[in-house]
Amino acid sequence: MKNHLVKDNWKVIEDKFNPSLNRVSESVFSLGNGRMGLRGNFEEQYSGDSLQGTYVAGVYYPDKTKVGWWKNGYPEYFAKVLNAVNWIGINIWVYGEALDLAECEIKEFKRTLHMKEGYLERSFVAKMKSGNKVEVNVKRFCSIVDDELGTIRYSIKPLNFDGQFTFSPYLDFDVKNEDSNYQEKFWEEVNKEATEKWAHVTASTKKTDFHVCAGMRVELEVDGKKQKSEGNPYNREKFVSQSIKAESQKGEEIVIYKYVGITSSLNHSKKDLVKATQKVVKEAKKKGFDQLLEEHTKAWEKKWIDSDIVIEGDVSAQQGIRFNIFQLNQTYTGEDSRLNIGPKGFTGEKYGGVTYWDTEAYCIPFYLSTSSPEVAKNLLIYRYNHLQKAIENAEKLGFSDGAALYPMVTINGEECHNEWEITFEEIHRNGAIAYAIFDYIRYTNDREYLAEYGLEVLIAISRFWAQRVNYSEQKKKYVILGVTGPNEYENNVNNNWYTNTIAAWVMNYTLESIKHVKDTSFDAYKKLMQKIQFDDRGEAEKWKHICENMFYPEDKKLGIFLQQDNYLDKEQIMVKDLDSKHLPLVHNWSWDRILRSCFIKQADVLQGMYFFEDDFDKETVERNFKFYEPRTVHESSLSPCVHSVLAAKLGMEKKAYEMYIQTSRLDLDDLNSDSEDGLHITSMAGTWMSVVKGFGGFRVKDGQIQLQPMIPTQWNAYTFTIKFREALVRVRVSKAEVKIQNDSDENVEVIVFGETKSIKANSTRKVRFPNAKKELTTA
Ligand code: BGC
Repeated sequence: MKNHLVKDNWKVIEDKFNPSLNRVSESVFSLGNGRMGLRGNFEEQYSGDSLQGTYVAGVYYPDKTKVGWWKNGYPEYFAKVLNAVNWIGINIWVYGEALDLAECEIKEFKRTLHMKEGYLERSFVAKMKSGNKVEVNVKRFCSIVDDELGTIRYSIKPLNFDGQFTFSPYLDFDVKNEDSNYQEKFWEEVNKEATEKWAHVTASTKKTDFHVCAGMRVELEVDGKKQKSEGNPYNREKFVSQSIKAESQKGEEIVIYKYVGITSSLNHSKKDLVKATQKVVKEAKKKGFDQLLEEHTKAWEKKWIDSDIVIEGDVSAQQGIRFNIFQLNQTYTGEDSRLNIGPKGFTGEKYGGVTYWDTEAYCIPFYLSTSSPEVAKNLLIYRYNHLQKAIENAEKLGFSDGAALYPMVTINGEECHNEWEITFEEIHRNGAIAYAIFDYIRYTNDREYLAEYGLEVLIAISRFWAQRVNYSEQKKKYVILGVTGPNEYENNVNNNWYTNTIAAWVMNYTLESIKHVKDTSFDAYKKLMQKIQFDDRGEAEKWKHICENMFYPEDKKLGIFLQQDNYLDKEQIMVKDLDSKHLPLVHNWSWDRILRSCFIKQADVLQGMYFFEDDFDKETVERNFKFYEPRTVHESSLSPCVHSVLAAKLGMEKKAYEMYIQTSRLDLDDLNSDSEDGLHITSMAGTWMSVVKGFGGFRVKDGQIQLQPMIPTQWNAYTFTIKFREALVRVRVSKAEVKIQNDSDENVEVIVFGETKSIKANSTRKVRFPNAKKELTTA
């Protein structure tokens, strides 16, 4: 727990510079706009420890796999969203002395993330070795109005001297990835130009040949007056800059404005990139920083209206949830089905910016409720477009006849993860992809999606499961052997309950879906059956037989499902009985010791209870929760949110709150000591779920909104918004009542505490908590 950030409802503030926490802060102060993003690096040179990182969505490199011992089936490469052009750089010299915070005495320092307005501010007072004192204030943002634009306002004031400054704003493609497997640099120069007024550099990625162009214009102001800002151009390989000299009297402010366009061949033809970049920059400069920021702020305001969660009476919890929502909205905007949500978004190199099951299992519900349905649909289409690759991926492993195994890790549909126990065994991910289709349709009622895209994916996944199971003569049941469940602290186990459960569920759901499409869109059904050569009798019968005869490990005496066949053979120790010096296990124990232990990295059986809650009575969920929660170390960020939702459902308020704080402040407080690698973006959607689905008890049942709210003792009230089909509903839960505001032009029926309430268009209704008895009148 770092606790180095100031608590505030709308801002994240670091009010002291601590170089040893700089990487964590760089992650926390990341910015993005769905198209690009960057860590909270400094503009001026910094010789201390830092992970420089700027990323352009979808621009990746297939880095050749490096493993100790090659095994058949391993992917050839690990895809990485690349560290791209450093566009924020502005080197500064005062009378020839470089301004570098690692070399200065820092008198004051503040980094502030203005989440409401969507920009980053940094200010400091530094005494340089020469004794010269400067005061600096920097604002920057990645525009969400024009997602190819980044803008900086850099102001500097000499405090105890008359200043002579040299500024060198630059664009630098000569960057590397820290996680490069062979120390290789991935960018090659295509073209560049640096003149007095304009500078750009275009580079291409090796192997994948993406082109990215960054171009800039700079403006200079001294003491509020615009100056001639033509710079002295300079260039070297993959690098352009303009150096500008400026003088100011003691106390007079110099401001550098840097307008940067970043375009890529994903969205423009290669030959037009420079022109497209010039256009972005020209328009930005014409508007100027203040107007651009104002427009950007207004756009953020809009985003907040539909996605904000207000928590009254608990600043820590409030800051936590807003930080999570802010980062999610910065990472994915849902306009482009080629893009997805990397576990670290644009905030670091870990996980390579590529796609995991996290998207389907965790992120979909957030985007469904806070954005238009197209956003979640595009995430689904991403997988639909990768179906052929998933079939090829399964073929590589020996499956056939159209069986699809979606990759554990991918950017273009190909598997690019190469730990056998995950690549080959963590096959439950295939289930999450099917579950997301179910979730999307249940939510939106977009049945056409099923006929047009979803069913084809479902059938291919079911074909995989039907081949992956085997019939155990001994058990007289179907078993799934040699898998890794969501809990990655066990590998190569047999009959992971979650995997068996989701496999059977997928086959069942696919059978239902086939029938539905056949009954409702016969033409589409016929076309698809022909395309994929589906054997409506043989295959369907087989799946049915498997579903009816799947083996589910359980312990009848304890009344629990077993994480896997041999889970109870392990020495049973509770996390609370471990000396805290052992935690996190991943840093302190050998991998072998972890694998043999009973400790659980993340929700596993409980993940299944969360997905399929209607299949289990409350007592069953409670017994499983009480058994597994004390054994769970939550060393995956994806874990506490699921536990929080379940605890809330079980009325275990204290546990639900504890888990909520853990998920929502995971990065702000660096709880798992790993935020320096980047933020846990995908689990942030889980944080949202723990409020809306957990405390709010929001579910979609039979095409209706259902609410079963509770409120943590620490909170006075909380408010969340749900976009559901035609409705826009705002729910405020206070200690005594639930206020439901229907902000749409249609009447809405909401089931609150088990009773259906009709809420007229554009009106509000209040419902008392059941123990507070009397229902309040309509407001
Ligand atoms: C978790 C996986 C997850 C991945 C990316 C791992 O630590 O165990 O479930 O998909 O991180 O977030």
